[in-house]
Amino acid sequence: MKRCEKCGVEVTGNRLRCPLCQGTLLQTTGETREIFPVVPTLYRQYHLLFRLLIFASVAVGVVAVAVNLLLPESGAWSVFVAGGIICVWLSLALAVRKRKNIPKGMLYQVALLSIICMIWDFATGWNGWSIDYVLPILCVAAMAALAVLSRVFNWETENQMIYFCIDAIFGIVPSILFFAGCLRVPYPSVISMAVSLLSLAAVAVFRGDSIWAELKRRLHI
Ligand SMILES: [Zn+2]
Repeated sequence: MKRCEKCGVEVTGNRLRCPLCQGTLLQTTGETREIFPVVPTLYRQYHLLFRLLIFASVAVGVVAVAVNLLLPESGAWSVFVAGGIICVWLSLALAVRKRKNIPKGMLYQVALLSIICMIWDFATGWNGWSIDYVLPILCVAAMAALAVLSRVFNWETENQMIYFCIDAIFGIVPSILFFAGCLRVPYPSVISMAVSLLSLAAVAVFRGDSIWAELKRRLHI
């Protein structure tokens, strides 16, 4: 137990300063039991996993640079390996930050990864692989993940509405690129459009009633 002379209060736990006046506390009895439980952060909960992942990515980066130094004629590909590792960490950090809202988190992930890939593609002389392959593949992967997650978590109507809009975005962006004639290899984008339309149809058919009711309630129709 600790005591603040100024405020005349007894304070339990391991605090050094008075919670009221921030003054120094005096030790009165030996007991220093914490009354509030210590809540572990996500990092603390999974700290071994995080350490293993950090170590694995450092190891991959070091090995890649070492092999690249031994084979200089193979080009500066280890730069891309390092870039890839940084991308994975950025997207992991984003997923952890946005885990309260998974559909939005997915959208940010896809946007971030596609922009990074486009910059990468641009920096290496623009072969178009970022919009031909990476963007539609990411969209399809995100839509598949969202479809699974919406079943697993049994999202309520509000999340379903966000999910519906995000699925539409994943279909619209590749179709804009397709119809604007930016693509050299069109089939991944066409697949992405088809998956988007199918999942929109599925949500409309199976969850349409509850979404429509929610919209009416919100817009006072
Ligand atoms: Zn005080």
